[in-house]
Amino acid sequence: MNILEIRGVSKSYGKVHALRNVDLTVRRGEMVSIVGPSGSGKSTLLQIAGTLDRPTSGTVRVAGHDVSVLSDSELSALRARYIGFVFQQFHLSPGSSALDNVADGLLYSGLSRRQRRDRAAAALDRVGLGNRLAHRPHQLSGGQMQRVAVARAVAGEPPLLLADEPTGNLDSEAGAEVMSLFRKLNAGGVTIAIITHDSEVAMACPRRIRVRDGLVRSEVS
Ligand code: ADP
Repeated sequence: MNILEIRGVSKSYGKVHALRNVDLTVRRGEMVSIVGPSGSGKSTLLQIAGTLDRPTSGTVRVAGHDVSVLSDSELSALRARYIGFVFQQFHLSPGSSALDNVADGLLYSGLSRRQRRDRAAAALDRVGLGNRLAHRPHQLSGGQMQRVAVARAVAGEPPLLLADEPTGNLDSEAGAEVMSLFRKLNAGGVTIAIITHDSEVAMACPRRIRVRDGLVRSEVS
């Protein structure tokens, strides 16, 4: 079963061709890195795969759903169900506890407040932060903040996790912890795609997607 199917996707910003006729399939259970020089189209690819942006042409299917036929609200619902995101900047709300940061990620899940908080606590436990529920971001290390962001991304149990430079703001030890967390989630069945400039992160993934000048090629180690 393919969690992601990208067919003939191009994305242009005026005269800039960020993606050129890209075909890419990611199967359920894969862990792939997305590598390539700055400006090659990696973030554009991730944004389009994550349905945060629409292609200029071509089709994107997430878990078999053609996203081009969905309205913005249907797209939000699809994202909430299927996709979790992790970014280089952790994007945590500074005034909120770890628990609230994760629980707020479930606001559109249809769960009650109590259920959201229970799920959030379970997700924080999964990332090894079960003893930091009441901590605010400034009371946590960078690695811990990123783990809160990962907990938020997986609290709704999406099958697909998309990460844009998740270790880019971390020292090597914290980066290794986040990668070990990703491996654990992947072993539990979550499909993961990670944009990275870090060759160790790239090599830790069984498959690499190389992006260059908006073109994509895949290699398996
Ligand atoms: P990468 O993630 O590999 O650094 P990007 O996907 O961010 O590459 O960018 C690919 C190309 O598209 C670059 O030339 C970039 O300047 C351009 N680009 C990306 N987003 C926009 C945008 N919102 N408006 C205009 N150009 C953009």
